[in-house]
Amino acid sequence: KPVLFSGMQPSSDSLQLGNYIGALTQWVNMQQSFDAFFCVVNLHAITVPQDPAELAARTRRTAAQYIAAGIDPERSTLFVQSQVSAHTELAWVLNTITGFGEASRMTQFKDKSQKHGADASSVGLFTYPILMAADILLYQTDIVPVGEDQRQHVELTRDLATRFNSRFGDTFVVPEAQIQKGTAKVYDLQNPEAKMSKSAESEAGLIKVLDPANVTRKKIMRAVTDADGEIRYDRENKPGVSNLLTIYSVLTGRMIESIEQEFEGRGYGDLKKALAEVVDETFTPIRERTEELLADPAELDRLLAKGADRANEVATATLDRVYDRIGFIR
Ligand code: ATP
Ligand code: MG
Repeated sequence: KPVLFSGMQPSSDSLQLGNYIGALTQWVNMQQSFDAFFCVVNLHAITVPQDPAELAARTRRTAAQYIAAGIDPERSTLFVQSQVSAHTELAWVLNTITGFGEASRMTQFKDKSQKHGADASSVGLFTYPILMAADILLYQTDIVPVGEDQRQHVELTRDLATRFNSRFGDTFVVPEAQIQKGTAKVYDLQNPEAKMSKSAESEAGLIKVLDPANVTRKKIMRAVTDADGEIRYDRENKPGVSNLLTIYSVLTGRMIESIEQEFEGRGYGDLKKALAEVVDETFTPIRERTEELLADPAELDRLLAKGADRANEVATATLDRVYDRIGFIR
């Protein structure tokens, strides 16, 4: 079976709608036909400040949401990044073959360091994409299902794999990103020019999987639209309405045109009400299952430890090969 790797940061107490649509639903659909590795990337999360007790809780919450959304830990390898030390070890090696200018071109660092202030940003935030390359390459990954915002990082991963292979001999599979057309970028409901993010400064435009239905409903009803009044997809001129239409389309499995027809001559309030209902129907079972899983943290930790054992086996084999290639004696 071809190999799939992907992950999410435990950087919030809940995943958000963009994580669900842009990545998690793809994971669930693909896990049958791939040898899949799903990671909770806590090493990535600490590239911005995290409270230790919260980080621990968020790590379990993230893993629980994977399972609640349909990831089967018996079929796929579900694990926590820090429990597989090969990730940091390979990241160091890849650091040494990454150009400073090359790393400086990564736009996520530019965006996130702007938010925290250049001086307050850690070197870890700067080298984040190199750690991500290590995550992917350790498992000889073929496919990386991610949102649009991660395209550049997967591109860097490909460059590093190719570079290592040509300098030291064939070692890594060169992976490919899988980015779903249309749904790869869900926008903030208050700022439909910006990507929805778990760790957004303001939660007003952020739809969280684990939020109670009434909170989510309020946020959807307050979503920014426009003065034109027509329910029509036009990303350029009607980014707010287009975002709502995209989300509605993905969650119902219906074509955007058919939704436009259904709502012809009706107001934005109607579309928002219908959307709030669909989001509620989608997330309520996930929320309930997540709570059940979190009620037994020991069992969850056991599942994650089992996943880490499997991940360690594969990752260590790759790391051993890398160390041999570069001349580290054992
Ligand atoms: P943070 O704000 O902490 O960076 P995030 O919401 O961006 O959180 P990540 O953990 O960085 O989430 O990313 C997890 C996965 O979700 C990645 O595959 C990423 O591409 C995808 N993703 C994140 N935001 C969106 C979005 N708005 N639309 C589609 N996919 C998204
Ligand atoms: Mg992110």
